[in-house]
Amino acid sequence: MEEPVHKKTRTDDDDNVALVLYGVDDLKMVPWEKPLPKPGEVLLRMQSVGICGSDVHYWTAGRIGDFVVTSPMVMGHEASGCVVAVGDGVKNLQVGDRVAIEPGVPCRHCDHCKQGTYNLCPDMRFCATPPIHGSLAHYYCHDADFCYKLPSNVSYDHAALLEPLSVGVHACQRAGVCLGSKVLICGAGPIGLVCLLTAKACGAAHVIVTDIVEQRLEVAMAMGADQVIKVDTKDTQKLANQIREKMGGAPNMAIECTGVEASVSTAIYATRSGGVVVLVGLGAAMATIPIVNASVREVDIRGIFRYRNCYPVALEMVSSGRVPADKLDHMITHHYKLANSLEAFETAKTGRGGAIKVMIHCD
Ligand code: NAD
Ligand code: ZN
Repeated sequence: MEEPVHKKTRTDDDDNVALVLYGVDDLKMVPWEKPLPKPGEVLLRMQSVGICGSDVHYWTAGRIGDFVVTSPMVMGHEASGCVVAVGDGVKNLQVGDRVAIEPGVPCRHCDHCKQGTYNLCPDMRFCATPPIHGSLAHYYCHDADFCYKLPSNVSYDHAALLEPLSVGVHACQRAGVCLGSKVLICGAGPIGLVCLLTAKACGAAHVIVTDIVEQRLEVAMAMGADQVIKVDTKDTQKLANQIREKMGGAPNMAIECTGVEASVSTAIYATRSGGVVVLVGLGAAMATIPIVNASVREVDIRGIFRYRNCYPVALEMVSSGRVPADKLDHMITHHYKLANSLEAFETAKTGRGGAIKVMIHCD
């Protein structure tokens, strides 16, 4: 019988470290066992890992909704790496391939998985969502078919950004953004900004981005927003009218990326009758919103949960230049080495230095 490939290709460098969350406010860099790829998996030498709001939330609150950190968990899910070994049966990748890692691997057997709506799989295993370990380490194993080989013109940093970008792709698809669309995007955090990039790549004619922070709106302008609005009123109907005036008509769709109740209301009031409001932002579990207004104007309110089948699209958008590399670069405000991950998390938490996307370099 042929010897498994990983045995032949293992390097002498077996030291592994990982950034592990032990509980609320208890994050440590620790030695961590170097994994071996199981059948169908690849072993990756990790490269760029972006910090997401959810990583910070698990750190500061120990939970998001029903997902509670009850045992030590490796952080990180916006990631790229280089294949250093392949498990049995892997045919799509070879040692040396540079890849983007889609962090959620579904069960593959349930109705949702079979129908392609695998992001709704009840048995999803998603990096750094308890109890599943993330990839913020020197070495990490992942299912090979959820790793996407990068063309040489896509950097490891941009490969890590394919994770939030996939959220933008899914949101724009659910909103039905197309050539000539007028789009309202509420919130200019990383998620609002990737929705902006995607909407523009879809051919949106006019995109307005709102936020309460001036610096974030400046970044939105640099990333291709047609107009921005600094939110400084609690009167959501007035704000909606202001948006319609600025746009020269009502937006066809609104993509809500704050989770803030008032912003959801604004999105509904502003959207054209017969249009769509996509709720990307996840805020309070219960909210008071103008539901009758939406109903009698046939404004569809749609949720999104992460993404499905979007990684290949996001990768094509970046490699083809439909999402320009320099625009993506505007999002990445900070770089840290793996050894300085705690400092990186501190920057992401406080937003110091105008932090938007903080990137950690593992190699
Ligand atoms: P973020 O906190 O960095 O960005 C939110 C932005 O909204 C900030 O810039 C903030 O200043 C702005 N904001 C706050 N109140 C506002 C208001 N009233 N009007 C306009 N702007 C306002 O967060 P992010 O990482 O960009 O994520 C955005 C949201 O998307 C979060 O709620 C997150 O949980 C959610 N999310 C959902 C999914 C999903 O699958 N549905 C995936 C990823 C993130
Ligand atoms: Zn499933």
